[in-house]
Amino acid sequence: MSRKKLDSLPRVSLAQLPTPIEFLPNLSNYFGGPEIYIKRDDQTGLATGGNKTRKLEYLMASALESGADCVITAGSTQSNHARQTAAAARKCGVEPHLVLFSPGAKAPEKQRGNVLIDRLLGAHIHWTDECSPYTEKLTEVEEALHQAGKKPYLIPYGGSNATGIMGFVSAMLEAAEQIEGIGRMETHVFATSSGGTQAGMLLGAELVGKTGKADLVGISVDKKEDSLRERVAQLASEGAELLEMDWAPDPASIIINDSYLGGGYAVVSNLERDAIRLLAEKEGILVDPVYTGRALGGLLDMVRHGTFKMSERILFWHTGGTAALFAFEEALQ
Ligand SMILES: *Cc1c(COP(=O)(O)O)cnc(C)c1O
Repeated sequence: MSRKKLDSLPRVSLAQLPTPIEFLPNLSNYFGGPEIYIKRDDQTGLATGGNKTRKLEYLMASALESGADCVITAGSTQSNHARQTAAAARKCGVEPHLVLFSPGAKAPEKQRGNVLIDRLLGAHIHWTDECSPYTEKLTEVEEALHQAGKKPYLIPYGGSNATGIMGFVSAMLEAAEQIEGIGRMETHVFATSSGGTQAGMLLGAELVGKTGKADLVGISVDKKEDSLRERVAQLASEGAELLEMDWAPDPASIIINDSYLGGGYAVVSNLERDAIRLLAEKEGILVDPVYTGRALGGLLDMVRHGTFKMSERILFWHTGGTAALFAFEEALQ
């Protein structure tokens, strides 16, 4: 019933799916502990890929249905979400407008990494010194577009609303099928920020049912555990409503680890540096300095501290962001 509802939702094809799940033999052996696997959502294929592409398959379909000829979204200077939104918009033939937060950002940061790609995609960039998902600049840009006779569609911060999280409901169904081939998976670990990825996974696990029961461990990159748990619960409930499911998550069952916030959002420390280097040297795979580097650093710290059983299988979701490596050269030396 709910799966049928999911299949009936408008969706455009933007991502190369399914993304592979790979075993990481060298990394697993290095720790001699649990078997670590990786889900390559950095390989979704859209202008260097990432997790937002899954959400955008549903959000862009909704934009096109509304008759939009341009989309607006907001994010930090090095927003992966903004970059993927710009690429998705181009692929769908609508004009991308990005409101990017740049309090204190120096000129080079506004040129490198994701911003370079935004520019190559011909995105209209609107800078603001505010640093809020609901910045006034959004309304300003929207009004200006209306006045110019355009039809803008607002894509939420991080692509996280009931429609966007359907991308990760689907991702969980996709992963469940792959895991059947592997045999079992006790734990999923991933970076969490605006909460949409985790909410979608939670709802997807519910749809999968018994076989989907595994711990979903979100490693926060910028928010305290309690506020993010509330947000994830709310998003998952809204998603359930969209799928006409009579279900709401038990907030106590939402696992968020906020032990690795360090100096704050996008402040790179040894945790991220060491994790990025270790995965690169052991497996030839690159994670990013802001999200997946922090989440992997957290996972490896937990492995070191014996948080997981030796026999456990862990799936680390690589949610993308590698374009940001090229905006953090100094911090990664
Ligand atoms: C946005 C993002 C996340 C977090 O996803 P949310 O749905 O916002 O929680 C994780 N990793 C990368 C690389 C991202 O860009």
